[in-house]
Amino acid sequence: MKITVEIFLGDDDHDKLAALGMEPEGAPDCPNWMGDSIEHDFPASWEVCGECDGQGTTMFGWRNADQPAYTAEDFEEDPDFYSNMMAGAYDKPCPVCKGRTTIKVVDENDIKNPLDVYLWQLYRKQVAEQERDRRISESERRMGA
Ligand SMILES: [Zn+2]
Repeated sequence: MKITVEIFLGDDDHDKLAALGMEPEGAPDCPNWMGDSIEHDFPASWEVCGECDGQGTTMFGWRNADQPAYTAEDFEEDPDFYSNMMAGAYDKPCPVCKGRTTIKVVDENDIKNPLDVYLWQLYRKQVAEQERDRRISESERRMGA
């Protein structure tokens, strides 16, 4: 099984990839070369969705990080809300696995050839940067910027 991701390439990466045997034009390993980014297949396997712990649903269909933090007082004030919640009345399909309960994840142990290893590092860096940018803009938003 495969998972296809888009990887953005810097100027240096073109040379490095060519050195690893991936040519920009028509390389058999890389049919999806698009200049600034490529689509690449990594080996993948199914894992239980960590967002919903394999339930397939989350409250309101929101991510854990976005869930409101209810306190015991909130539930005491509104017991109906609590019992509805426990009965699953607010459960909606998990936003990560879309209710499938499992997600396809890249199987790092199966990344062996140097080209895949290089692209995987590139992709990990890209994901970390995107995550950092998302956190920065989120904290700016919270501060009212
Ligand atoms: Zn899920």
